[in-house]
Amino acid sequence: MIDYSKDTLDSGTDNIMSTKYIPEDDAEGSLRPRTLREYIGQEKAKQNLSVFIESAKRRGEPLDHVILHGPPGLGKTTLAAIIANEMGSTLRKTSGPAIEKPRDLAALLTNLEENDVLFIDEIHRLNRSVEEILYPAMEDRQIDIIIGQGPAASSICIDLKHFTLVGATTRSGQLSSPLRDRFGIDLKLELYKPEELRRIICRSAEILNVEIEPDGALEIASRSRGTPRIANRLLRRVRDFAEVYGDGVITKDLADKALRLLDIDKSGLDAIDRRLLMSIIENYGGGPVGLDTIAATINEESVTIEDVYEPYLLQQGFLTRTPRGRCVTRRAYEHLGIPFAGNTPDLGGQTSLPM
Ligand code: ADP
Repeated sequence: MIDYSKDTLDSGTDNIMSTKYIPEDDAEGSLRPRTLREYIGQEKAKQNLSVFIESAKRRGEPLDHVILHGPPGLGKTTLAAIIANEMGSTLRKTSGPAIEKPRDLAALLTNLEENDVLFIDEIHRLNRSVEEILYPAMEDRQIDIIIGQGPAASSICIDLKHFTLVGATTRSGQLSSPLRDRFGIDLKLELYKPEELRRIICRSAEILNVEIEPDGALEIASRSRGTPRIANRLLRRVRDFAEVYGDGVITKDLADKALRLLDIDKSGLDAIDRRLLMSIIENYGGGPVGLDTIAATINEESVTIEDVYEPYLLQQGFLTRTPRGRCVTRRAYEHLGIPFAGNTPDLGGQTSLPM
């Protein structure tokens, strides 16, 4: 795999519960499933993808371009590598912010070999002039390059090899429609269920040579925000506790103690989640309150709240999005042990705005 993006990827907050990639996740490589069969959960996406891969292979053609949506840490990069592997192709990896100029993308595209898979992470962050190069590349396998400047400038058209573009985005809403329309395969990844994460944890434990009981794995799974990246990270942290305080085996009891020491509660909320909910309750009567106001109050960036914290809080029904802003639900009050004020809409965990 050729990785162009390593030093340009945003490493995000350095928090153990952050869904974004942090340096300690370097060990992720060995844990990544390499085939669709090994990839746990996301049954719908997996089923569709396996049909498309199989039919492309039978026709002897490259797979259609694929766009993967979903919060960080759910397995988009992993799936891109699996696509390349299943198609018997080479994966080339970059990210939206790493491609600054149209000529950077032109260089990447013209260097692709027949049937390569080009993975662009955070594709919604490509700038417009770069994005426009992609349109003819995706549709007609051609790019137009301007040579020279001023009146002497001329445009030449270069043919590209057959390739599959796999784009990943945490923010579907920010994808321009001309770009979105050019992907033939559109797959949305969902937060994982505890049982799926339990299987992921057991698989990772086996690779890492860690002894874990099924109940211990489930305890970590149900506190991993529906995200494999966090599940794997918590597994490594809990293993440390098992080695120091136990006999190395991760039991339910040990996992519970370790996670409590890491300040991760029974619902998988960490200190920042609780601060976010508390600040809406204490300062804004439970909401509604705008995202930017919350961000300023708790000193986090709005995008971090939207990408990293909100998806899980919304999914768990602790927070709702209404046209007038975010509201804390009765469930969150109960979870935090605060009497419900009754002045915020209780939508039973439903989001009233599209995510
Ligand atoms: P994203 O690109 O969406 O941020 P990654 O593909 O980098 O997420 O996945 C993060 C980690 O989670 C990887 O180490 C990978 O091993 C693990 N992972 C993700 N999805 C799965 C899955 N379905 N089965 C097993 N492990 C997974």
